[in-house]
Amino acid sequence: VVGGSRPGLGTETDSATRGKREGAEQFVFQAEVNRLMDIIINSLYSNKDIFLRELISNASDALDKIRFLALTDKGQLGEGEAAKLDIQLSLDPSKKVLSIRDKGVGMTKEDLIKNLGTIAKSGTSGFLEQMQKGGDVNLIGQFGVGFYSVYLVADWVEVITKHNDDKQYVWQSTADGHFSIAEDDGEDIGRGTVINIHLKPEAQEYSEESKLKDLVHKYSEFIHFPIYLWTEKE
Ligand code: ADP
Ligand code: MG
Repeated sequence: VVGGSRPGLGTETDSATRGKREGAEQFVFQAEVNRLMDIIINSLYSNKDIFLRELISNASDALDKIRFLALTDKGQLGEGEAAKLDIQLSLDPSKKVLSIRDKGVGMTKEDLIKNLGTIAKSGTSGFLEQMQKGGDVNLIGQFGVGFYSVYLVADWVEVITKHNDDKQYVWQSTADGHFSIAEDDGEDIGRGTVINIHLKPEAQEYSEESKLKDLVHKYSEFIHFPIYLWTEKE
């Protein structure tokens, strides 16, 4: 983990444009996914830290996938890139935005629609059942729906992503039953995914560098890629 200035991650969007990007296509979440998100965003569950474990694990999976693809198709990764794959967290305390970036496989538009909203994984109903019985949110990853744990701390999430086979897109949702996808005309991320987490008022502690440092140490133990933390100086 290192400090330093922020390497200009992701798209700069201000809250006035929340969910209202021009030309964005609107989608509705699959019913069970919608119920799951409702439970999570309204959850009083105190161990909200786990969202970071889930997002780091997804970033690591995406890096594994691109490295695997490059074994049979060298063109999938740039020259010398394989040795430099990492996960970058960046913090903008003034905007209360935490971003996580990976140069992994990324998602096509089709992937975004399926993986982040319209197809319920087999674990979705199982997780809902567990929650109704007062089960532990901590197990969310085991049900294959870990991504949605980001709504423990966020009231608005943007996923900017670029897959080698498609253009750059931005997915966003305020967990109101809908998500939107638009072609992204912001900063060119090359390949991979940037997740901009707009922190809820009650989750502002995640915009503190010391809190993030502790969490990164805790969750990096089983991740075989370096994780860097950048903080925007106010
Ligand atoms: P799981 O990781 O168990 O598949 P998640 O809910 O954590 O379930 O993630 C859902 C899916 O979204 C992943 O399987 C993957 O296809 C996609 N996804 C999430 N984060 C990323 C990422 N950083 N890069 C590429 N794909 C991602
Ligand atoms: Mg996951």
